[in-house]
Amino acid sequence: MLELTVEQISMAQSAVDKAAALRLLADVLVADGLVAEGYLVGLQAREQQGSTFLGQGIAIPHGTPETRDQVFATGVRLMQFPEGVDWGDGQIVYLAIGIAAKSDEHLRLLQLLTRALGEDDLGEALRQAKDPEALLTLLQGAPQALALDAQMIGLGVSVDDFEELVWHGARLLRRADCASNGFAAVLQQVEPLPLGDGLWLLHREQMVKRPGLAFVTPDKPIRHLGQPLTGLFCLASLGEAHKALLERLCALLIEGRGHELGGATNSRAVLEVLGGELPQDWPTERVALANAHGLHARPAKILAQLAKGFDGEIKVRIVDTGESAVSAKSLSKLLSLGARRGQVLEFIAEPSVAGDALPALIAAVRDGLGEDIEPLPTAAAPAPTAAVAAVVAHTLSAPAHGSQVQAVGASPGIAMGPAHVQVLPVFDYPLLGESHAIEHQRLQSALAEVRQDIERLIQRSTAKAIREIFITHQEMLDDPELIDEVASRLRKGESAAAAWMNVIDAAARQQEQLQDVLLAERAADLRDVGRRVLAQICGVGELAEPQQPYILVMDEVGPSDVARLDPTRVAGILTARGGATAHSAIVARALGIPALVGAGDAVLLIKPGTLLLIDGQRGRLTVTPDAITVQRAIDDRDRRDKRLQAASALRMEPAVTRDGHTVEVFANIGDSAGTPAAVEQGAEGIGLLRTELLFMAHNQAPDEATQEAEYRRVLDDLQGRPLVVRTLDVGGDKPLPYWPIDKEENPFLGVRGIRLTLQRPDIMESQLRALLRAADNRALRIMFPMVGTVEEWHQARDMTERLRLEIPVADLQLGIMIEVPSAALLAPVLAKEVDFFSVGTNDLTQYTLAIDRGHPTLSAQADGLHPAVLQLIDITVRAAHAHGKWVGVCGELAADPAAVPILVGLGVDELSVSARSIGEVKACVRELNRSDARQLAQAALAVGSAREVRALVEGL
Ligand code: PEP
Ligand code: MG
Repeated sequence: MLELTVEQISMAQSAVDKAAALRLLADVLVADGLVAEGYLVGLQAREQQGSTFLGQGIAIPHGTPETRDQVFATGVRLMQFPEGVDWGDGQIVYLAIGIAAKSDEHLRLLQLLTRALGEDDLGEALRQAKDPEALLTLLQGAPQALALDAQMIGLGVSVDDFEELVWHGARLLRRADCASNGFAAVLQQVEPLPLGDGLWLLHREQMVKRPGLAFVTPDKPIRHLGQPLTGLFCLASLGEAHKALLERLCALLIEGRGHELGGATNSRAVLEVLGGELPQDWPTERVALANAHGLHARPAKILAQLAKGFDGEIKVRIVDTGESAVSAKSLSKLLSLGARRGQVLEFIAEPSVAGDALPALIAAVRDGLGEDIEPLPTAAAPAPTAAVAAVVAHTLSAPAHGSQVQAVGASPGIAMGPAHVQVLPVFDYPLLGESHAIEHQRLQSALAEVRQDIERLIQRSTAKAIREIFITHQEMLDDPELIDEVASRLRKGESAAAAWMNVIDAAARQQEQLQDVLLAERAADLRDVGRRVLAQICGVGELAEPQQPYILVMDEVGPSDVARLDPTRVAGILTARGGATAHSAIVARALGIPALVGAGDAVLLIKPGTLLLIDGQRGRLTVTPDAITVQRAIDDRDRRDKRLQAASALRMEPAVTRDGHTVEVFANIGDSAGTPAAVEQGAEGIGLLRTELLFMAHNQAPDEATQEAEYRRVLDDLQGRPLVVRTLDVGGDKPLPYWPIDKEENPFLGVRGIRLTLQRPDIMESQLRALLRAADNRALRIMFPMVGTVEEWHQARDMTERLRLEIPVADLQLGIMIEVPSAALLAPVLAKEVDFFSVGTNDLTQYTLAIDRGHPTLSAQADGLHPAVLQLIDITVRAAHAHGKWVGVCGELAADPAAVPILVGLGVDELSVSARSIGEVKACVRELNRSDARQLAQAALAVGSAREVRALVEGL
């Protein structure tokens, strides 16, 4: 991210012209390691396309898209030219800000400079600035006021400890757009300051967008560091904005009034004491915007002119965006709202003008603000059953009888039964309530009903995973912030249904935007809870469950949909969308219900009652299977059950083919505590230790000693068996909270794995040191993730070899993961230098087939048995064996019983799988004859699709 600091500034430079100034800037960028020499050409080319003069004596030279590959690291360097440089057309530049950026990061810089650019005479002041600090102060512009309003106060929050309270405070700051995602993690690292009277303060400048203060109190007495805690201030500090507030707070504490804050029961009282922005009790009116292109310049101008005609303050905001209201009289503010067709505008007017202004503004918006408008669609009137509407595009048709559909296997097993198709109900409800008392009552009884219902589910569930999910649902229902927000909407006249759904929707959307995939997936839980309460408010009941065992077909199942099912009647689950990590999939696995997810929208068109057969292991659906297919499936299931039992009995024996060839079977683990369980399941070593989990478990990068202890523990537990460790594989879609990475359009194609750690050699070196120290001459293999070029391998190898001179290890091998097609294609070159390869089929498949491995609808097609992926594995194995090196496979494919014969046939030496699959994989190997497997693999290389490969295996 681009931030301005004094170290980046070179004062008192001089250049005869723009070309000389660009050269000076390029030299500094090169000298500081941000760009390659060729970047100067980019700076010049960019100026040719159009001047980078910004105004107020500032220019922001940057490269062109063609020279982005010359950028090593994003950054800026600033040069002051007190004598001025002519930037063309007589525009004089006193400050040039050279940007090394790989994409559009300069937009962020513009955002930082906006406040300064609004000031008068900035150019002259920049020219006269005497030191970097003065210059930076000028660039930061007028100080921003500290944000503190009712939205940033959370009283009586249900928490058990200090960390949870911090999380709530940070969340309020994030919602008010004062801080970025990850601020909570940053705050957790700060030493809290006890202020007395049970009040504590935490503050941080990192990841702050604008200064703001949140105040949160716990619902029950808690203690922190042995002292009572009645209230916590979380401060997103920037500049001096918070100074006055802190002075006021000190005075308050000296007067002995701290308890007024800790014991406050409403946010108005807190704001009065602290001097924050008191909520205005002004009349409001809402209207939906119907203009085709939203509130663009022309309609906004008409709106602003109309508002200006009233002699009092009028504000407007978009409902449910969480953004604050802006003046309806300012054209630029109106445009900054970015209101789109269909969004609801809320006008807020000073009481003296509200009576005239609000109806006039609402009517003007309804009339289209000078444009012809097409009315917004209105929802159909509800009837308890008519409220259930299909959400499927009608251009699709249901899969034909006898056809097979490939989906994502989310829970193993084979199930058969008639389809019970449920589509999500669409609820229709009024926006405005009857009266506050009635709507409040409606909401309370709906919440009470759902609470009881969830309680019943918790009592009924024997599986811990399910109970935990529903305990989370209960917490969501009782979340004081949600409830507070709904209550405030009810007070404004919204109906219970509208108030509830508006709040749930906004919270779910916010959750969905989180970088962390797992956290983002929890939005499904919020929507699930939201839907249950809404159904209660609207009085829409659940569809009756058929009596005989059936296959439940849904768009996307919420966890509570699944958990509410009776496993004796629900034979299996089939969904149109969703991924294997969704909670519904976890619940299905815990209940032992076979499930397929992500089968595509067409399955929603299957006629209820149609006979379906699902194979959760192979991820396959058969529609109206014939008798032979059914019999085959039943035989398959029986065979598999028997095989698993026999496999488990022989799990400690080696995996040797019928003709005497041994394949090593290792375990994949993420948690260093998982080794004993893996060994107990028959692991002959650890084939993949995913070290990122160790890093994710800490608030900051674990130090060398902490890491060494963890790695030592794994090696000790292995008792002489080998350990293959992968160096840190984060970045892109898996950021570490304490390691900020620029947001990327395509994180899977971005800075991840070795690309990232090579940019942070300090972290990589400390991990390697910890590994080498932990080895104690035991069998240690280190591999690097996401290697795509020979240079990356060289850099990683050289770093390790250099450290090895310091910390000698007798039994060390260095290898790379084959996860990127370029690495597989370069295997003949790399094989001369590495000690081994380990094929990461999860990523190799994603990159070869260009299908996001977590894609909700396409990931079913990302099958590692695709012949294109097999070709790359074949190249890898041939190259490795030609140089006497070994090859393992550690992606999910290694555990797929259909893939084992092919991988063994291709010559793979080691299979590394999750501990619970070891017995089965070993059993698969024992059933093989190596020469048959070779023939099978060769045949697989010659076909055109994964389906054909699977058919070949089945015919074995
Ligand atoms: C892989 O990509 O196959 C692999 C084992 O790595 P991960 O799943 O951790 O990306
Ligand atoms: Mg991978």
